[in-house]
Amino acid sequence: MPDRINCREIFQASCQVIPGGVNSPTRAFPGLEMTPLIAARGEGAIVWDADGNPYIDYCHSWGAVILGHCHPAVVEAATDQMKMGAGFGMATRVELLIAQKICKHLPFIDKLRFVSSGTEATMSAIRLARGYTGRDKIVKFEGHYHGHSDGLLIKAGSAVVQINPEASSKGIPADFVRHTVCLPFNDIAIARDYIRSRDDIAAVILEPVAGNMGLVPSDPDFLTMLREETEEKGIVLIFDEVISGFRVGLQGAQGLYKITPDLTCLGKIIGAGFPAAAFGGKAAIMDHLAPIGEVYQAGTLSGHPVAMRAGLAALEQLEEPGFYEKLEVKTTLLVEALRRMMRDKKINGCVHHLGSMFTPFFGASEVRRKITLDQDQYCHFFKQLFKQGIYMAPSPYEANFVSSAHTDDHIQKTIFACNNLTF
Ligand code: PMP
Repeated sequence: MPDRINCREIFQASCQVIPGGVNSPTRAFPGLEMTPLIAARGEGAIVWDADGNPYIDYCHSWGAVILGHCHPAVVEAATDQMKMGAGFGMATRVELLIAQKICKHLPFIDKLRFVSSGTEATMSAIRLARGYTGRDKIVKFEGHYHGHSDGLLIKAGSAVVQINPEASSKGIPADFVRHTVCLPFNDIAIARDYIRSRDDIAAVILEPVAGNMGLVPSDPDFLTMLREETEEKGIVLIFDEVISGFRVGLQGAQGLYKITPDLTCLGKIIGAGFPAAAFGGKAAIMDHLAPIGEVYQAGTLSGHPVAMRAGLAALEQLEEPGFYEKLEVKTTLLVEALRRMMRDKKINGCVHHLGSMFTPFFGASEVRRKITLDQDQYCHFFKQLFKQGIYMAPSPYEANFVSSAHTDDHIQKTIFACNNLTF
């Protein structure tokens, strides 16, 4: 019987048939030297592993499940759709409804197209930007992750401007990354000088609130500069809001910073835990997509009706007055406790916090760009919390997420566990 097999056995057996035992690398707990969590089920803010142990979950499907696991409205919508047909390969009304809702909340998205993953969203947005501008080069920033498409997996070295970038994965020909330039994040002078010096840049892409180097928000002046300089040069500014979209507020990071990108990539929350993502923006750019334009982009499962129904049901919940404020209050309590803990234990670290996202950084008192953190201390922190039934991100370079399903009790238990930590 499956539930009598413990996590270790499942993981070992998985390693025989799935490379590394997992379908996405961080799930294997690299660097932690322990059996990863094998999830059996989730409800609200709790995930149970295959041995029946409960964990207060701060991963929440890497931020996708902002309402917690199995929110009744999401379960009902997805179940209802499954009874009507899981997918047709034809247009459906629910795609229209969720597109209208997203366009309402993100007023600078005139049109959008749904895809099935964040990787597809950024890859397609970049192809569109290239097709629209007729240029090849793209600029990204160190520490920012935009999925695993060839042109975006660039080694972020220490060189100021990587004129000859190297792929950060084997299997990517040097030719495929030679149009990508990786610049330091939040460094106004370097990015401005580079953009001014070129006439061949199609797009600048960034996470306006970076979540893949730990949580590191953009400096507002940095974003303002990027908007001004890209506008001046006719470069498409792409905000990758796969994490921050509908996470930092109904209008995402663009609402928070009051800066309008040309294209926006969304993912995670809009699929409520199902595979869904999107890219969208100004109609003048989006209308270059097939079938009306010459930039080809497609997907058998794109706009999948089950994911769209679930996503629409989730977005409706986010519109409840005070939704984001309540999340922030809970997160603040936890973040303050983590900061106190670091102070009391004289740890060289800091805690970043924005809305319902937070990252404890070990080995740095300030983080404004990608830096090397104290991996050992983070592992120690993670493992001690894990033993007490608290699941934080299994890597120091990730964000944690509070959901509307976290109760005061969950937060207090987490604070108690943090106060028990030894270093
Ligand atoms: N962009 C950002 C900002 C992300 O955080 C991620 C995934 N964590 C992606 C793109 C890629 O999304 P996916 O894993 O769905 O392909």
